[in-house]
Amino acid sequence: FPEDLPEKATVVRARQAGGSEVFETAEVPLPEPGPGQLLVQTRAAGVNFIETYQRSGVYSVEYPFVPGSEGTGTVLALGEDVEAFHIGQRITTTEAATGTYASHFLVDAAKAVPVPDEITDEQAAALPLQGATAHYLVNSTYRVSPGETVLTHAGAGGVGQILTQLLKAKGARVITTTSSAEKAEIAQAAGADHVLSYDNFAEKVREITNGDGVPVVYDGVGRDTFTGSLDALAVRGTLVLFGGASGPVPPLDLQELNRRGGLYVTRPALHWYLRNAEERSWRFTELFALMSARELKLSIGGSYPLADAGRAHGDLESRRTTGKLILIP
Ligand code: NDP
Repeated sequence: FPEDLPEKATVVRARQAGGSEVFETAEVPLPEPGPGQLLVQTRAAGVNFIETYQRSGVYSVEYPFVPGSEGTGTVLALGEDVEAFHIGQRITTTEAATGTYASHFLVDAAKAVPVPDEITDEQAAALPLQGATAHYLVNSTYRVSPGETVLTHAGAGGVGQILTQLLKAKGARVITTTSSAEKAEIAQAAGADHVLSYDNFAEKVREITNGDGVPVVYDGVGRDTFTGSLDALAVRGTLVLFGGASGPVPPLDLQELNRRGGLYVTRPALHWYLRNAEERSWRFTELFALMSARELKLSIGGSYPLADAGRAHGDLESRRTTGKLILIP
């Protein structure tokens, strides 16, 4: 165990449920890695929508709460029985054991992913949570086939830009939505074939698909788009509701799925798709390979000092951002 470690770590935590003003910066004892764990010095912490749900109280957590399960950094110390990692190694994770809105965090070695040399720190920081999400959505929740036309919302967003690129790499035709002309350009640059505004998007999707509708909709917007997403589906189509950036979706009468053509609806989350080492390794190996081949380029939409986590949340919630947001300690 190295002797020259700092005694303290800096964390950003939510004092209570509320707006972005509930965040405070605090000094806490440096966490100690337990058996099988790594202590990591954070180079970048990912900001994700889920942390806004946890901060605001939409998801229940215990306060004070240090958010963040996604982090990229350098291994500073190893707990007992860690053999696969060494001090100084770069790792990234979506499954940290302690909050990553912090100068240091702990992660089980089994849930840490080594970063290949050719991947820059910035690219590594932008990848894991949104990348793994996009990967399971197109490969596991619904397996997209070449030539299929699919709809994915918020195409300039963090998940949206990656999803579009993975769909294009699979040979699909991508329709997406955005709320502004600037965002439409970004979605197009990510490879989208058709970029729509949210107004009457289902009707426009039917026009593009000669009245058929699409076999799958990836919907992370939720409340505002859900009904339109159902309207945009082909007979026996699948609605993948993977988030609620505009708010939660009200209860659904299942008979509605029959009336609309025997539809499927699923509400997945990343942890159901990172169930073991093989699954984790498969997803990250493919994502890193696509990045090395330049078929997947990640865009950092905002980089904030750790202490400005509240501002990052405010920007994300008010739809001002595109791409990935990161916090730098
Ligand atoms: P984004 O960068 O996509 O930001 C959210 C985007 O949603 C906004 O930029 C905005 O784009 C759009 N949006 C539409 N309506 C609203 C609204 N009322 N308020 C705010 N935004 C709105 O975020 P992420 O990429 O981090 O996440 C996207 C979605 O994916 C979220 O719902 C998140 O919870 C979900 N997610 C789910 C995971 C899972 O495993 N289930 C894992 C990771 C993320 P525009 O202005 O163009 O409409």
